[in-house]
Amino acid sequence: MSMADDRYPVARPSLSELEERYVVDALRSGWVSSRGPYLDDFEDRFARRCAAGTALATANGTVALHLVLAAAGIGPGDEVIVPALTYVATANAVAYCGARAVCVDVLPESWCVDPAAVRAAIGPRTRAVIAVDLYGHPADYPALRALCQRHGLLLVADAAESFGATADGRPTGALADATTFSFFGNKVITAGEGGCVTTSDETLAARMRLLRNQGMDPHRRYYFPVLGYNYRMTNLGAALLCAQLDRADEIIARRDEVIAGYEAQLADEPALSAQPVVAGVRRAPWMAAFLVGPEGDATSRDTLALTLDRLGVETRPFFVPIPDLPAHRDPAAHCPVTADLSRRGINLPTYPELTEAGLKTVVERIRAALASIA
Ligand SMILES: *Cc1c(COP(=O)(O)O)cnc(C)c1O
Repeated sequence: MSMADDRYPVARPSLSELEERYVVDALRSGWVSSRGPYLDDFEDRFARRCAAGTALATANGTVALHLVLAAAGIGPGDEVIVPALTYVATANAVAYCGARAVCVDVLPESWCVDPAAVRAAIGPRTRAVIAVDLYGHPADYPALRALCQRHGLLLVADAAESFGATADGRPTGALADATTFSFFGNKVITAGEGGCVTTSDETLAARMRLLRNQGMDPHRRYYFPVLGYNYRMTNLGAALLCAQLDRADEIIARRDEVIAGYEAQLADEPALSAQPVVAGVRRAPWMAAFLVGPEGDATSRDTLALTLDRLGVETRPFFVPIPDLPAHRDPAAHCPVTADLSRRGINLPTYPELTEAGLKTVVERIRAALASIA
């Protein structure tokens, strides 16, 4: 097999005959749009799996975040505290409300938002905190919850990357006032595009239901008392997700094995350090995540990624710090841990269909690449 035929992507959805069966069933039923039995079934089962009162399916994870903030009435002049190290969607959702995303640093021991930094950033305009379960690791919700309660702030969990994680035995989806998920093609479970919000706050849920459906009065068709959005998921997407939920334990178990395989087989590589996991946390196996080189190393990660790409292994660099992005630029933000992780972090191919032999090949190529750049 030539090199070109033997490439390992960083992510790949796991789609079986079950997904095919449910999607075809939805298609043949004619319920292809944003109503249908798969939607009801998905929301019901997702809420139960997350130990939450309600789940609301959405078109994607970004609008799930915006829906929560909009339903909470966050608007111009407000501030929302977010970690500096996250996918851009977390900060974008704040900006869509006309509010300002205030970025704070993350902790080296979890790569998630530092509750002490959150506390220091709370001011008179602060309305909410969005914690992000980066690379599947839940943030410190007990500390954040206490802080938010004391200051009357909404606590949102961006669990786009952490479906299946638990903290002290409690699943993500039940650790904050509202939790958002993404079902993009590279996430733990997927509908291609899709998202969800879980909450046990029925007032917030009712408001989100209204805004998700263009703001239409549930008792008066085509009367729109408020400015809403079309943030609905399709029954086709929900059919895919119902199959993914049926297979979720199996998908998670295999992803866990892949990440454990990397961690075991690369444990003796001094240039690599695995994602740290805090005691009591069961991380969701989204993407294997490692740091390359010692603290402060600004070049080894990129060299490794380039070499691996030539060897047929696709990788991903960690996110660029939010305050470095033009739309959210903040030269005053001081986030040294984020800056270091962003330069050293790399994600490796992680998907259920990666076989033991494939994993071994990827590990061999990583070893070869590391040897060539040492
Ligand atoms: C994937 C992701 C989202 C949402 O992404 P969508 O592509 O809109 O579904 C939000 N936050 C984080 C941290 C993510 O990784």
